[in-house]
Amino acid sequence: SYRSRSAFKLLEIDDKWRFLTPHDVNVVLDLGSAPGGWSQVVAHKLGWGDRPDARESTVLRDGWSAANPLDISESSGDDFGRGRGIIVAVDLLRMAPIPGVQFIEADFLAPQTEALIRALVTRQGVDGDGKGQADVIICDMAGNSTGNMFHDIESSLEICTSVLDFTKRHLRSAAAIGRNMGGVLLIKHFVHPLLHHFRTQHLVPNFNDVRYIKPNASRTESKEGYFLCRGWKG
Ligand code: SAM
Repeated sequence: SYRSRSAFKLLEIDDKWRFLTPHDVNVVLDLGSAPGGWSQVVAHKLGWGDRPDARESTVLRDGWSAANPLDISESSGDDFGRGRGIIVAVDLLRMAPIPGVQFIEADFLAPQTEALIRALVTRQGVDGDGKGQADVIICDMAGNSTGNMFHDIESSLEICTSVLDFTKRHLRSAAAIGRNMGGVLLIKHFVHPLLHHFRTQHLVPNFNDVRYIKPNASRTESKEGYFLCRGWKG
């Protein structure tokens, strides 16, 4: 079974918009991935295992952390037998292994984490141009809701801004992919006018198509929504 209710949101969004389904999707980054529902969905879409709880090859290694980056060099994808591509998941909280998913236990907002992600994306030869770029970046990251609206907005804005900065360096462009809607960022945000401003000022100019999505699987009273941004202009 899926590890999170969020998995159903991602399934629902991809059913409609088909951004994980195309066969040229090879590198996917899952930011704020624990307990792993989204990673399970992605792994399945890229052909890793029939069931979300299948337990086969995995490259999770104990002791991986931002403080221990050298471990990465020993964790090549030799175990990879079935699915395709590279899936890298990042979370502050440790996540149980998922076949085909490489997990980094780290704070995404910490400066050294980007290098850890890039190392995993570039080193396996799937990444044709060697630039460490992803076809799809999904971000379900959220700070702990404090109940304090001001704080929650600030924290959501910080995450969105930081993920967009990262995206500028690590998302393959629609032109490079050869599809108008290729190069996708799916990002959770707190629903608030300031985040709407983020959308119009920072997302809309950079993508061919940006839309606000409230999946049915998302509790209606929740203040969270998603921006689905397709066709990164690069
Ligand atoms: N999509 C996931 C799934 O389907 O299982 C659920 C993600 S959960 C809603 C949000 C996650 O973001 C939490 O596991 C939390 O630890 C993580 N998170 C929040 N801030 C983070 C940060 N700065 N760096 C890494 N992970 C973070």
